[in-house]
Amino acid sequence: MRVSVDLNVCQGHGVCYMTNPEIFQPREEDGQALVVLDEIPADLQDAAILAQQSCPERAISVTE
Ligand code: SF4
Repeated sequence: MRVSVDLNVCQGHGVCYMTNPEIFQPREEDGQALVVLDEIPADLQDAAILAQQSCPERAISVTE
């Protein structure tokens, strides 16, 4: 599983990286979300899907 963030849509609220810092970290200059894992390990996949569903801007994509 891979996760990506559309930085044209992300508003930097931080919901994703506050709840899942293992997957997301804030970009220093503006707080937009960066994905820090190339491949999401099995034990974080539910969290990744929840983050996708929880993003207020629908900026997060999850692909198998
Ligand atoms: S929750 Fe969505 S809009 Fe907010 S920082 Fe994360 S990706 Fe960006």
